[in-house]
Amino acid sequence: MEKRELLYEGKAKQVFLTDDPELIIIHYKDDASAYNNVKKATIEGKGQLNNQISAIIFKYLMEHGIPTHFVEQLNDRDQLCRRVKIFPMEVIVRNIIAGSMAKRLDIPEGTQPANTIIDLCYKKDELGDPLINNDHVVALGIASYEELDEILDMTRRINVLLTDLFKVLGIKLVDFKLEFGRTSDGKIVLADEISPDTSRLWDAETNEKLDKDRFRRDLGKVHEAYEEILRRLTK
Ligand code: 5GP
Repeated sequence: MEKRELLYEGKAKQVFLTDDPELIIIHYKDDASAYNNVKKATIEGKGQLNNQISAIIFKYLMEHGIPTHFVEQLNDRDQLCRRVKIFPMEVIVRNIIAGSMAKRLDIPEGTQPANTIIDLCYKKDELGDPLINNDHVVALGIASYEELDEILDMTRRINVLLTDLFKVLGIKLVDFKLEFGRTSDGKIVLADEISPDTSRLWDAETNEKLDKDRFRRDLGKVHEAYEEILRRLTK
């Protein structure tokens, strides 16, 4: 597989074309950003950790019947993935209240809701990824109602699988963000990454944060927290 020109550069990853038009290479960087790029830093080794963590999680989900863009991990920073057209929407699952929902609705962080909450956000940096609803998704041309149903159904299955996976590892899956894409043959698949950059993971015993909130909130030991997640996933 030959790495060709840079197609896209995001905050934490680069996407390269390959000699196969159906395949891309995703390169994980050490850059971290938060609060819509207001806070920025480099966390040495984060790219390697997230590449491995996300690869393990995607493989686990695929083994349990979830279609994804993941093909294989190529080296410590690169993954081979299917090229997809990303739905410009973030699908956020909340099992425990934290982060923006805690702040917006003035609910103490750590509150256990009666149900699982799925938020949809329009992926648009200029607007700060605003919260939208199902009708907005259709009105904005992001996806049809049928496609959204399929995405939400897959999201609920992913939440059950990931909650179980992390529970065994002594970790509470507080919340996480998913992105979906469409392949050239029209199939909807899970895309992007699942890592401590895109989720909140709390130690089940101590509630210690083992995710990007350590960076967002200047709690220190960011790398150590990500390492701990990888250590438990590979145990
Ligand atoms: P919140 O809405 O509390 O900021 O985020 C909820 C969850 O989704 C957290 O686990 C957070 O990491 C993830 N998330 C939401 N938006 C983004 C985003 O733009 N980038 C990343 N990496 N994660 C996000």
